[in-house]
Amino acid sequence: MMPVDTCFTNSYNKKEMSEKNKGKKRIVCIGAGASGLFFALNCADAENEVILLDSNAKVGRKMYISGKGRCNITNDCEVKEFIGNIVRNPRFLYSAINNFKPADTIAFFNEHGCPLKTERGNRVFPVSDHASDIIDCLFFACRKAGVKIEFEKTVKEIRKEKEGFLVSCADRDYHADAVVIATGGRSYPSTGSTGDGYRFAESLGHHIVDLKSALCPIRVKEFIPRECLRMTLKNVSLSAHNASFKKTLFGDLEFLPGALSGPIALSMSSLINRLEDLSVEVDLKPGLDEEKLDKRLLREIEVAPNKDVYHLLGTLLPREFCSFFIEQTKTDTSIKLNSFTKAMRSKLLHDLKHFPFTFDGLEDIDKGIVTSGGVDVKEVDPRTMESKLCKGVYFIGEVLDVDAFTGGFNMQIALSTGHACAMALKKEDHD
Ligand SMILES: Cc1cc2nc3c(=O)[nH]c(=O)nc-3n(C[C@H](O)[C@H](O)[C@H](O)COP(=O)(O)OP(=O)(O)OC[C@H]3O[C@@H](n4cnc5c(N)ncnc54)[C@H](O)[C@@H]3O)c2cc1C
Repeated sequence: MMPVDTCFTNSYNKKEMSEKNKGKKRIVCIGAGASGLFFALNCADAENEVILLDSNAKVGRKMYISGKGRCNITNDCEVKEFIGNIVRNPRFLYSAINNFKPADTIAFFNEHGCPLKTERGNRVFPVSDHASDIIDCLFFACRKAGVKIEFEKTVKEIRKEKEGFLVSCADRDYHADAVVIATGGRSYPSTGSTGDGYRFAESLGHHIVDLKSALCPIRVKEFIPRECLRMTLKNVSLSAHNASFKKTLFGDLEFLPGALSGPIALSMSSLINRLEDLSVEVDLKPGLDEEKLDKRLLREIEVAPNKDVYHLLGTLLPREFCSFFIEQTKTDTSIKLNSFTKAMRSKLLHDLKHFPFTFDGLEDIDKGIVTSGGVDVKEVDPRTMESKLCKGVYFIGEVLDVDAFTGGFNMQIALSTGHACAMALKKEDHD
């Protein structure tokens, strides 16, 4: 039979630990990512023994690759603006964000020896530009609070017992008075977020809202030539629409083989991941309305009447993009600008304002920065993160059906929901 533990880590003496924890409420948190670590360090105290289990050999694997290795830990904005950047279930998150705001995150890291800095778009990063400093800060704060972290412990099952729960790993079971599910989403599974939390939730009676990729590239049917890959079209607008939806986003667009990427494509993906029959187009000159763009074309033609359309396009678009544009729009390049008719100018103008792509779905969920969908928030108390269906079970972070745009919002959601859960469990001790 498998041993039922009295939990200990390499650095703890088993007997000492069990003495020390006598009479404490035992809380097992599954997942030592952003939400699990922040929950644990805020919850462990004289009344709560917190055991943090993770399948990895290190904590915060996804945080390590976040923000291109710099970890954009939050967005330094007011709650109202923050809520406006949440795509799914912003109202559910209001209480958690309001009770632990971006300003609280900044204060926490500054006070715990990891100074932060704010960059463009209120994005907050560690001054060192190393995500590892954020992780170390959380890890040492957990150690200081007395959290027991057990590595390489993949939870297989959570079972409700007569009293409390049994959390089972391959080599050991853990009794728990309360269980916190902080297993993250389903994207980038190599970081450990393989979607196990959804299975646990379902086994406890929860409903999982369909999982979709979010903050991911948008696949298109057009062949993107080599010279366009990794090029940025700056300050363009991307529109997506179908019979009941229309959205336009302004900013930078990048190209991948067979896909649109860059900030506006990633944000758009989060808005369209439950829609079908979409048309996608780019306005390459959103700063100029049709009248102004026509005047601009006339001016350029007047200045260089003996040049061709390549030259004209080169005054308006990045050079690397011109051949692709010409090919896609079937623009006649044999004609000199001095022979350009009004009809030709109108076509060019239309193509610049409505450069089309054929929508071919979104990249796989594995490649999304976050997962859309998850544990249905209708079944979770927004103040405490406790399950409404199974008392003593809590959900925090990306496992919930919440997601936001890029800019540090998703990390802050993980921290704020972890904090709300910790405060609720601590409050219970005093009620
Ligand atoms: C490439 C990339 C870049 C990103 N950059 C940013 C950024 O700069 N800013 C931002 O705000 N957001 C960013 N995000 C999103 C952000 O990282 C996540 O939203 C956030 O980490 C979610 O935290 P979490 O605690 O819910 O889950 P995670 O951080 O994914 O942690 C879940 C943990 O649970 C563990 N686990 C899962 N199943 C089990 C099991 N059965 N047993 C034991 N352990 C288990 C996993 O090993 C993992 O450690 C990025 C995401 C990616 C993929």
